[in-house]
Amino acid sequence: MRLKGRVAIVTGAGSGLGKAIAERCASEGASIVIADMNQGAVDATVKELQAAGHQAMGFKVNVTSRAQLKELMQATEDKFGKIDILVNSAGITRNRPFKEMNDEDWDIVLGVDLKGTFFAVQAVADYMIKHRYGKVLNISSLGGLGVGGHAVGGSPGGSSNYQAAKAGVIQLTKTLARELGPHGINVNSVAPGFILTPMTSTTRTPEEVKEHMAVRTKTCVLNRAGTPQDIANAVLFLVSEESSFISGQTLLVDGGRTDKI
Ligand code: NAP
Repeated sequence: MRLKGRVAIVTGAGSGLGKAIAERCASEGASIVIADMNQGAVDATVKELQAAGHQAMGFKVNVTSRAQLKELMQATEDKFGKIDILVNSAGITRNRPFKEMNDEDWDIVLGVDLKGTFFAVQAVADYMIKHRYGKVLNISSLGGLGVGGHAVGGSPGGSSNYQAAKAGVIQLTKTLARELGPHGINVNSVAPGFILTPMTSTTRTPEEVKEHMAVRTKTCVLNRAGTPQDIANAVLFLVSEESSFISGQTLLVDGGRTDKI
């Protein structure tokens, strides 16, 4: 049990990668807070975790609201007595070619994916500082490292807003690692390659999904598509004691893209 006795909040845990991360951390003994803006998904995920014998509570939160994040942190401390781990997985896309991208597309993606991450870490910081212990894990993206994730078959338009936000998450991770490190807090990031989740499937037609999966399999040296469990395993390492001397890093988990290595 690599997280026995630990308390972990996972934002965006009602779906996709966040849900897989929550399940993996729970399987290693952590008490889990499912924090997501989708109430139905929160309730269903908590139910599943509890049915599997894990400690879990749900909290409906929009990560663009400082006030709601403040309530989330206090509710977690009230229930479990501390907060050891925060995984920021809540995220959205609004893809559109650059010349057609409007203020709303730009603001909402930067607001959730970058500012939401900043707000959540700011809200949790004092809870971790007072125990001189904390693991913050931000979900960036291969796109944040400058790889044109959408320039291949089966992809919906441009993603200048998303890629800028995810690049920001990588730099934010480094800055927060410097500022929070002296308080015993590690801050790292995982940058997933393409993984089939509701985010990536609902923005494509079934034919585009098929085409994109084929491209992603062919352009990966391991010759397979990634799974949410692949990402959850990397996250588990970075929020466990096994990575206690690692901070400020972004771990690319993409199966070895042939256009990258
Ligand atoms: P997903 O299946 O859509 O899950 C994201 C979850 O976050 C959903 O439950 C969503 O709720 C929730 N959410 C959205 N906006 C929120 C907000 N403002 N406050 C709180 N919760 C919010 O997506 P995913 O694929 O798991 O993505 C998880 C993270 O991985 C994201 O940060 C994404 O950018 C990143 N990522 C994904 C991939 C990939 O290939 N899947 C690759 C690289 C990076 P609703 O369902 O109600 O919107």
